[in-house]
Amino acid sequence: MRPSLFTSIIYATANTTRLTTAARTGLARFAPAVAAASVPRHMSFLSNLFSSSSSSNSASNMSYPDSRTADEWRAVLNKEQFRILREKGTEAPGSGTYDKHYPSDGVYTCAGCATPLYKANHKFKSGCGWPAYFDSIPGAVTRHEDRAFGMARTEIVCSNCGGHLGHVFKGEGFPTPTDERHCVNSVSLNFTPEDKKA
Ligand SMILES: [Zn+2]
Repeated sequence: MRPSLFTSIIYATANTTRLTTAARTGLARFAPAVAAASVPRHMSFLSNLFSSSSSSNSASNMSYPDSRTADEWRAVLNKEQFRILREKGTEAPGSGTYDKHYPSDGVYTCAGCATPLYKANHKFKSGCGWPAYFDSIPGAVTRHEDRAFGMARTEIVCSNCGGHLGHVFKGEGFPTPTDERHCVNSVSLNFTPEDKKA
């Protein structure tokens, strides 16, 4: 329904002395739809903002300090690690070694290049089926826009080797200091109990 038609309905109903229940119900149903009409503009503004800031740094175009070739990675990673870290795969939910792993100390490192990524005290119980962290070691994790599968998500990779870790989600309401969830594949990680300096 066009806004001009909506306006004329408002005037028409305002001019009748007895507003019927049907008209009231119709208006009540119609009003939220008009309010919702502003949403697409807002969304496209956001997505424009997002793509303009990240279109030039898609993960595959970025270079990283550790720039081993696919063959070099194949030589040091097992098949599942290669599929997830280098081909952006995902492990089955609830299957990962570190899904229900809650040590009091220690560091999770990149399974590709051994860079420390997350501390034990960044980890929290999300119940999502993958290890969840509310923050990372500063600078250790790089974010990219990911538009695969028709969704706009934020991919996270190791800042040193570009290895795929998972995705980060914001504003889900978890009671953590950041309200962010780094949803990471266990396969992308190793754990060391000693608290290495990043
Ligand atoms: Zn790495």
